[in-house]
Amino acid sequence: MADGCACDRHAHMYLSVDQAQNRGLAVSDPLTDTETLPLIQAIGRVLAEDCVSKVDMPAFDNSAMDGYAVRTQDLSDGPLFDLPVAGRIAAGDSGAHSAPAGSALRIFTGAPVPDDFDAVLMQEDCETTETGIRFTRRPKPGQHIRRVGEDLKAGAPILRRGCVITAREAAALASAGYGAVKVVRKLKVTIFSTGSELKQPGEELGPGQIYNSNRYMLLALLDKPWIELTDKGPVEDNPVLLEQVLREACETSDLIITTGGVSVGDEDHMPRLFAEIGGQTDVMKVAMKPGKPIMFGRREGALYIGLPGNPVSAYVTWQIIGSQMMARRAGLHRTPQMPEQAVLAEPLQRRAGRQEYRPVQIEGVSVEGAPRLRLMAPSYSGRVALLAQADGLAIIPAEIEAMPEGQGLHFLRF
Ligand code: AMP
Ligand code: MG
Repeated sequence: MADGCACDRHAHMYLSVDQAQNRGLAVSDPLTDTETLPLIQAIGRVLAEDCVSKVDMPAFDNSAMDGYAVRTQDLSDGPLFDLPVAGRIAAGDSGAHSAPAGSALRIFTGAPVPDDFDAVLMQEDCETTETGIRFTRRPKPGQHIRRVGEDLKAGAPILRRGCVITAREAAALASAGYGAVKVVRKLKVTIFSTGSELKQPGEELGPGQIYNSNRYMLLALLDKPWIELTDKGPVEDNPVLLEQVLREACETSDLIITTGGVSVGDEDHMPRLFAEIGGQTDVMKVAMKPGKPIMFGRREGALYIGLPGNPVSAYVTWQIIGSQMMARRAGLHRTPQMPEQAVLAEPLQRRAGRQEYRPVQIEGVSVEGAPRLRLMAPSYSGRVALLAQADGLAIIPAEIEAMPEGQGLHFLRF
């Protein structure tokens, strides 16, 4: 990159972010092994079958209100209606109730409405009398009755494969009668951080040493019920050691994620080592800031993603490229985060050439209701503390060199 030039001269030789995402997805084939688990154990896992309801929802006509069930054909012309109350049905009772013509039934929310009753009156609209109830407004046939199958008919689709079974999916599966479901087996992920300079937080730092932040970042990012994680900790920049750990990880994992050692320095061993153990690699320079380079590759059943060492670069490349690859490999639908519309709270000046993901803070809201973004430092790829203070990433398209205050742009909220 030449100083004084407003653009990155080499950027045209790099892949665009879209191209890099597509290449990554192309090597991330979904797991096909499944297991059938009781619903209670399937929570948090990836659904592996399209599900249809096993029952009508609701399964029977039932009352939507606490009140009184009536037969509208029994009613007089009004204006006052008086009916005796001939019985009582609560939720959980059977709907097989007989009542003489011209009488009402006390009924509660969720209770079955007997076949020949066709309306429910809210108790707030009825006055109780010595002999029963009195009301003034003629009920409409069908009012306050939830009809069998009105929510969903048996056989109707409820969920597509590839979703994570979180609260809403778990509730839908339970109400559709699924005692057990087929899920994708857990994704076996191995992580390690490369770098001879890395120390564990809590230890004393010696000269030239830094704390290993990427390890904890990845542990947090990968803390998911559908992942079986193996953490190999830090590994020093020693090719013999690195090769041993990498080879072992390839034999036992569906996905290996490392940080550092993928650049062009003498201590950046990962691309060569991965090729030496028989992996097919794709080291890419991506026209992305922060982030280049990222590497990924395949060796038999193992997908390898090598993230940059700089913590902010590692985080951003993970969010934009790596996490999508992992999601696909784990059998999830592809649901990339949709950027929001935001506006700049200050002008921007920068070097064009790469699509940039700039850490920003939300300063307030514009008149149109969009978040107003304050830019954080322009040079930030190693500044992990700054990332923790940011509210998200502003997306600055590759060709942009300057933007005035108030300009609209896309924003990915954390
Ligand atoms: P590398 O990609 O290995 O050349 O590393 C780039 C920069 O990121 C160097 O300044 C490293 O010291 C730093 N770095 C690498 N790995 C980590 C890590 N796990 N935690 C914090 N910083 C790291
Ligand atoms: Mg390194």
